[in-house]
Amino acid sequence: MERVYNFSAGPSTLPVPVLEKAQKEMVCYGDAGMSVMEMSHRSGAYQAIIDECEALIRSLLGVGDNYKVMFLQGGASSQFAMVPLNLFSNSKKADYVLTGVWAKKAAKEASRYGEVNIVGSSEDGTFSYIPKLDPATFSKDADYFHFTHNNTIYGTRFKEIPEVGNVPLVTDMSSSILSQKVDVNKFGIIYAGAQKNMGPAGVTLAIVREDLLGKALDVTPTMFNYATHAENGSMFNTPPCYSIYICKLVCEWLRDLGGISAIEEINIRKAAILYDFLDNSKMFRATVTNPDDRSMMNVPFVTDSDELNAKFIKEATAAGFVNLKGHRSVGGMRASIYNAMPVEGVEKLVELMKKFETEN
Ligand SMILES: *Cc1c(COP(=O)(O)O)cnc(C)c1O
Repeated sequence: MERVYNFSAGPSTLPVPVLEKAQKEMVCYGDAGMSVMEMSHRSGAYQAIIDECEALIRSLLGVGDNYKVMFLQGGASSQFAMVPLNLFSNSKKADYVLTGVWAKKAAKEASRYGEVNIVGSSEDGTFSYIPKLDPATFSKDADYFHFTHNNTIYGTRFKEIPEVGNVPLVTDMSSSILSQKVDVNKFGIIYAGAQKNMGPAGVTLAIVREDLLGKALDVTPTMFNYATHAENGSMFNTPPCYSIYICKLVCEWLRDLGGISAIEEINIRKAAILYDFLDNSKMFRATVTNPDDRSMMNVPFVTDSDELNAKFIKEATAAGFVNLKGHRSVGGMRASIYNAMPVEGVEKLVELMKKFETEN
């Protein structure tokens, strides 16, 4: 069977050259005489892999020396607890913006450990837009400010990073990490589950400014304390070795492509192809209408009929365009067009939609 175009929101498509390289190195990595899966994480060969992965992330994103880069487990969902446990060190107050399911889950988890102030929400509009924020409503003494950079389910993203003064800014970049340039220096913490845009499931990236380390609440489990992992080079216990290795290959692929600015240009092109079609179609339309709020990574769209939606998904699947069914809370379709989705995949999807529109 041939490979399909996989529009899954996560775990999601990976670059073919990465899969091929992993295949080549699967049984015998370099001169180690074994697979990466079989290596001791304390071996020199594995240390070189994790060091290279960290160095590539630092150079791709421009991470300064005053930040720790960590490879953790437990998914982005564990960060929903890890962030408050580590940062509720003074007022035990934090500001949250509710822009979707993940943002709500993050806020709910934080409210178990301190006071959560909701400074914006788009729940009244099924999270189809990014709410305007009024800095006057921000807590001046907050221990941190949290927002979800890209909303995977609803297909919105923050075009402008909120201005929060000296309050540490924390963001969930699970579905936008490595897809566009970011000024890391604006953030106290950036975290991301790998399985959307960076690699396979099982590893979570956390980039934490050093001054935020060492202040965790006393009840914080050792494994949930950033300092534990920062002090041990992400090797306090066995890290998700193979997932980190694939992330390294993905980062090498990005570097060879020309880095973040090169992939950002490609991502802008892919999103424009899809949104331009949706804005001009008489059958399909994007659920996010404000162009400034539209995600470059996840594009939800609908027709006006559930039957047509179902028919389209069925025909698309048969033609090799899979995982286009939208999240159950939005319905319709969603095309996730992460870094590894080639321009050609989006062009062909649009061709298919045009054909479907003519035939129906
Ligand atoms: C997928 C996703 C999560 C949940 O990630 P897990 O790694 O499964 O815990 C959290 N936030 C965002 C923005 C996501 O897209």
